[in-house]
Amino acid sequence: MATGGNGEGFIPDIPGLKSFPGEVIHSSYYKLGKLYINKKVLVIGSGNSGMEIALDLSNYGAQTSIVVRSPFHVMTKEWIWLGMVLVKYLPIRFVDSLLLMLSKFKYGDLSKYGIVRPKLGPLSLKAATGMSAVIDVGTIIKTKSGEIQVLKDPLHIRQDEVTFSDGKLYQFDAIILATGYKTTIKTWLKVVDEMTEVPSLDEGLNLILELLAVFDVATEVLVKFAEFAFISLAASFIF
Ligand SMILES: Cc1cc2nc3c(=O)[nH]c(=O)nc-3n(C[C@H](O)[C@H](O)[C@H](O)COP(=O)(O)OP(=O)(O)OC[C@H]3O[C@@H](n4cnc5c(N)ncnc54)[C@H](O)[C@@H]3O)c2cc1C
Repeated sequence: MATGGNGEGFIPDIPGLKSFPGEVIHSSYYKLGKLYINKKVLVIGSGNSGMEIALDLSNYGAQTSIVVRSPFHVMTKEWIWLGMVLVKYLPIRFVDSLLLMLSKFKYGDLSKYGIVRPKLGPLSLKAATGMSAVIDVGTIIKTKSGEIQVLKDPLHIRQDEVTFSDGKLYQFDAIILATGYKTTIKTWLKVVDEMTEVPSLDEGLNLILELLAVFDVATEVLVKFAEFAFISLAASFIF
């Protein structure tokens, strides 16, 4: 079954979100920046969805702000392609260093614009956590020019006003939640009905490791048995 695991939009629990009088949608329902011309729009979440939606909004003349909560790498799709090719032949840390060098050369220090690079390199981070780099399609240049405003975590919402963790307060006409996805496994995996609960990733991994351990012991017994049979056969020929 290749139906995807994380299919439902994740809606964060932001105090006061329900009091917001304007449009609030998850990024999966976003259609076109044209619908937001001259509107003040807040995009919450700076994954690939948030960054591309912010760019689209700004291109259509919306006054766009984006909430950046956690560190991420900014790459181009060509660099990611290059990294994927090189990592087949070179150590991942070396390839990460090369990608970081390219990113620093092209984009410089983005921390003054509110974008911080993670400590782990882009490929190591992907391998360790599944977290992808953001592929820049033009958002960064607009962030640097101030056309797209970067904001910190939204603390609470009161009507059309949003207060951020650095104490700033702004008014918005619409909010787009580009906050990622959550698993839908319980809605389509029939066997779940027969189980008390869905095993966590850790439990699943442990089960696989236990099965592998049993398989290992079984293989070892078989090999020993084959060795013994071979030696007995050889001995019966000799003596
Ligand atoms: C382990 C794993 C591996 C994957 N591998 C691949 C792959 O190889 N190829 C592929 O195409 N897809 C892959 N995916 C799927 C891919 O990651 C998602 O489709 C993609 O990340 C969705 O992008 P997004 O921007 O919508 O959400 P995300 O990338 O999840 O971004 C959501 C953002 O919202 C922020 N956020 C959340 N809540 C709040 C809040 N309350 N306030 C402020 N910010 C908030 C988060 O910090 C994050 O920056 C993988 C997914 C997982 C889980």
